[in-house]
Amino acid sequence: MEIGPPVKKLKHSGSYCETSTDIFDRYIQLIDNKKNLKAVLSDEFDSPLKLVKVFVGHIKDVKNISKTILALNQKIPLKELQHLKRVRRQDVILCPTNFFNDTSSIQDFIECYVPELKHVFEYFKQVEVPLNPPKIDRHFQETKRIWSCNFHPNKYLEKLTGDEFFPPYDLKNHRLFMKVVFEVAKFYSIKYNIDSIDSTFKNINATIVVDPNLQTIVALSFDNRQAHPVQHSAMLAIDNVAKTQDGGVWNSKENNNEYVGVPEDVLPYLKEKFPSLKYYQKEYKNVLEDKIKSKEGPYLCTGYYIYMLREPCVMCSMALVHSRVQRVFFCIGNDECGALKSKTKLQTIASLNHHFEVFTDFL
Ligand SMILES: [Zn+2]
Repeated sequence: MEIGPPVKKLKHSGSYCETSTDIFDRYIQLIDNKKNLKAVLSDEFDSPLKLVKVFVGHIKDVKNISKTILALNQKIPLKELQHLKRVRRQDVILCPTNFFNDTSSIQDFIECYVPELKHVFEYFKQVEVPLNPPKIDRHFQETKRIWSCNFHPNKYLEKLTGDEFFPPYDLKNHRLFMKVVFEVAKFYSIKYNIDSIDSTFKNINATIVVDPNLQTIVALSFDNRQAHPVQHSAMLAIDNVAKTQDGGVWNSKENNNEYVGVPEDVLPYLKEKFPSLKYYQKEYKNVLEDKIKSKEGPYLCTGYYIYMLREPCVMCSMALVHSRVQRVFFCIGNDECGALKSKTKLQTIASLNHHFEVFTDFL
């Protein structure tokens, strides 16, 4: 099929110069490896433990330990430090050092609030203890070295932070879909004669939306930023998903009737490259409409996976939040305005009303 003129390899003073097509082909090969993907998680998983200073009292006589804990728990509960055990050997946590900000000493404080303990302690000291409860075993081990603590392991989180999250079959699929993304980008870069592509892919992006249950491409798109400031590829992809649900605001004459969310021009190219891939068709649409009528169906991208060549910006990432995407996979980081890893991690902001998982490390 015709996909535009082939890009010629240029020679610069005798040295080989990589063309845009070469760059795409090189990346498509690089994506095809066996390494597992990595989840992009909040900073607390990579940063050192956050510590807080507390007053600790050393109990003179071990016989007084239970009585001391009981009195302290009643009168000075450790609210934010509940994950820590109050006592470690003969040392007991009294309160954070910022608990009282007048000039009274810890001895005066104890005498005032827990007078029954005024003769229990041999001495007081200040100690730094972990501020947050451990989320994964590694944090638990680090916390334990500093102070005894409680820990309820979360198997999913443990796996997510490990090196073998995706089983080989899933991994193969994710890598296949990322290759599709690069082929989409390659196709349109040739079609639109974009030859200023370097290995950072700064001026282009491509997105595909996959229904993981049906292993079907629901929608796809190529960046149209040059012509329309808001038509980044993720925005276009979401709009194309909306078209599969009788919505969508942007005209795209190239979207055909059979595959609602997939532009017609790129389809023969993809079918040739990936003969086994399935695309979202009208019959799925009917199933979907029944679900929508019964209010069980998806809202835009509910349950869908998004694969992007380049890390999305804040606008696109927020649109992905609003469209209820389940997972976002991207290949190339975006140091200038990437909102899922490079500049910020939108998916880790607790106050947002929807959260998706983010995976990268394809290369
Ligand atoms: Zn964007």
